[in-house]
Amino acid sequence: MSGTAVPAESTEVVIAGAGPAGLVLGNLLLAAGVRCIIVERQSRAHVEERARAGFLAANTVRVLTENGLADGLLKDGQQHDTCAFRTDAGEFLLNYGSLGRGEAHTVYPQQHLVRDLVAEFLARGGDLRFETPVTGITGLTTDRPEVTAQSPDGAAIRLRPRFVAGCDGRHGIARTAVPAEAARRYRRDHGVTWLALLAAAPQSMAAVAYAVHEDGFAGHMARTPDITRYYLQVPRGESPADWPDTRVWAELAHRMRADRHGPLHEGPILERRIVDMNSDVLDPIQYGRLFLVGDAAGLISPAAAKGANLAVMAAEILAEGLVPALRSGDEQRLTRYSADCLPRIWRAQEFSHWMIDLLHGPAGTGDDAVFLRALQQARLESLRTSRRHQDHFAENYVGI
Ligand SMILES: Cc1cc2nc3c(=O)[nH]c(=O)nc-3n(C[C@H](O)[C@H](O)[C@H](O)COP(=O)(O)OP(=O)(O)OC[C@H]3O[C@@H](n4cnc5c(N)ncnc54)[C@H](O)[C@@H]3O)c2cc1C
Repeated sequence: MSGTAVPAESTEVVIAGAGPAGLVLGNLLLAAGVRCIIVERQSRAHVEERARAGFLAANTVRVLTENGLADGLLKDGQQHDTCAFRTDAGEFLLNYGSLGRGEAHTVYPQQHLVRDLVAEFLARGGDLRFETPVTGITGLTTDRPEVTAQSPDGAAIRLRPRFVAGCDGRHGIARTAVPAEAARRYRRDHGVTWLALLAAAPQSMAAVAYAVHEDGFAGHMARTPDITRYYLQVPRGESPADWPDTRVWAELAHRMRADRHGPLHEGPILERRIVDMNSDVLDPIQYGRLFLVGDAAGLISPAAAKGANLAVMAAEILAEGLVPALRSGDEQRLTRYSADCLPRIWRAQEFSHWMIDLLHGPAGTGDDAVFLRALQQARLESLRTSRRHQDHFAENYVGI
């Protein structure tokens, strides 16, 4: 156990999961004087080293800044306002920071954000229990639901909070506590797989680059001055072991058309993982006294870099509902939680789905594949030439 222990019986909110959703929610509740516990399955080192997102939307930076959680990202985050699309026809740049609402991204690795949020929660006296998986969530339609967890020494912990926040991600236990008949599940396998790579190399170009290629998509995204994220579309079922460093760099250079646009800065590949593009949204994202936040509420493919940003958005909305509910019994905001979050989740899903279609053409020479690839080119051409399309893109690309 870390931090100051709060007696389990007096806990008002149990938060399952110490990812961006749980940690932002925990910090906001703690600042408002709400007694809460964050219970996390993994070790502190594990969550602080887990590399995933990096592109933070303006709304995310606002939430973190307004709540005193942005020191690290304001100090070390980089501003990014341009993306590039590479096709057979050449490259075009979109300075999205000057389009739409004029918003830019702040690039700050998710694991650094998690590290900052953990440190702040503990510094504020928060109770954060690592290596303590939640094993059961019951009694959600009563005044005092029960959350059971297993402490690192194997002992069972029983918590009886007023509310439970399910911030335990896509494979967590919280969404399984929602009975099938109580929520509709919307799922889609987008049929696309990425090999997500982290290279110990500086970025190769100033912009985020999306390479649309008949052999598959390739992406380039800055992370820190020494680390760059790359993506390669690979066939479903492929293993990271199929992609040694030499093959990765040769394929990236080929799809990024390095011969025409300049070489890539190569370095050792630090991490390679397979990511299948899936969406999975529940509606509503509340059941009794349980509220789902972040990936637990709505998994989104990383094609448009929205997941962590949606997690922070929903954490703020939930905190704004829980505080008056606990302080004065006013549950008006809280009962609107699903209705407030879901339209934003769906708008992000729509844009993410559009990005998937924009970036991935089907392989093959059949009628369907050829037709869909021609549509893909038409979409890219519209984005290259239409100012209105560019404004719409910019608004959705950075916005939440
Ligand atoms: C390769 C990749 C790149 C991405 N890039 C971006 C990007 O640029 N921008 C962006 O916005 N998003 C991006 N995302 C998505 C983003 O990382 C996720 O949406 C984000 O982590 C969701 O945060 P969360 O707190 O909801 O869930 P998580 O970060 O998954 O946290 C959930 C936590 O719950 C814990 N947990 C699970 N089960 C239990 C249990 N039973 N008991 C207790 N704890 C439990 C887990 O260990 C975990 O720590 C990317 C994702 C990937 C995979």
